[in-house]
Amino acid sequence: MLELHSHTTCSDGSLTPAELVKFAAEKGVKALAITDHDTMAGWDEAIATATLLNLEIVPGLELSTVYNGRSMHILGFYPDAEKLRSPLQERVEGRKRRAREMAAKLAELGYPIELPDLSGLMAPGRPHIASALKKAGHVKSNREAFDRFLKDDGPAYVPYEKFTAQEGIELLTQCGAVSVWAHPYIFRGGTVEAILPELVEAGLTGIEVYHPTHSPSQTRKLEEYCQTYGLLMTGGSDYHGPRKEKNPDFRDLNDLAVPLTLLPPLRAAAIALKSTRS
Ligand code: AMP
Ligand code: ZN
Ligand code: FE
Ligand code: FE
Repeated sequence: MLELHSHTTCSDGSLTPAELVKFAAEKGVKALAITDHDTMAGWDEAIATATLLNLEIVPGLELSTVYNGRSMHILGFYPDAEKLRSPLQERVEGRKRRAREMAAKLAELGYPIELPDLSGLMAPGRPHIASALKKAGHVKSNREAFDRFLKDDGPAYVPYEKFTAQEGIELLTQCGAVSVWAHPYIFRGGTVEAILPELVEAGLTGIEVYHPTHSPSQTRKLEEYCQTYGLLMTGGSDYHGPRKEKNPDFRDLNDLAVPLTLLPPLRAAAIALKSTRS
């Protein structure tokens, strides 16, 4: 089956790209997209491992943007890596500044933490701050870290540096990538119905219809939107590695059983985007 949303240690996943690919092959995944937050750093290792295991890697990323002051994630598939490298470098630097700001806010609140090593290509996110809070003994679980401090309106939350969803979609399009609104029903800054036309206007090519957080009726609604707007459908478990804590939204790799038939249209769209731009 198909998995179009996964994370590695290059962002906030807990498996290295090689470990993730090996596990995906064991689980029966035939094509796996590596979609780390704001970085393409995991691709090479994933592709090298996948070649030995007869598994296809779909090169991707999950871009962090802001819409209506809230965090909005846009997936990009098959970007031209050369074109995207330098803008992404800025995004990762922005994430590092943000991590330091969140640490400063926590210290001010009386909860000092030790940040992980921020050198290198790794893109730090809130889960890293949650782990640091746990390590410092301020919280017992990641959930508690998010509930008390890190959720979107939490006291230690710092938004990404301003980079709108429209800018994100345009950047991906310029780089020949298929842009897909990730897990639309997680978004807290407005209704899907109201926002979708604006994203389509900006050049959005698809919607992540299948995601562990979507209810069956939400999934059906998204399928309908794809029909109405002529958008591609994608899906995946948003895998971040095995979970130690109980989480109702957790799905193991391949559990969503996303059909492989969704892949050829995605590939074709990426080729079409590149040919219209060159
Ligand atoms: P960031 O991109 O740094 O804002 O972090 C986003 C990541 O944090 C997501 O991919 C999730 O893994 C995690 N996350 C976001 N909100 C929550 C929440 N309320 N509870 C637990 N984890 C969350
Ligand atoms: Zn994540
Ligand atoms: Fe996301
Ligand atoms: Fe994700």
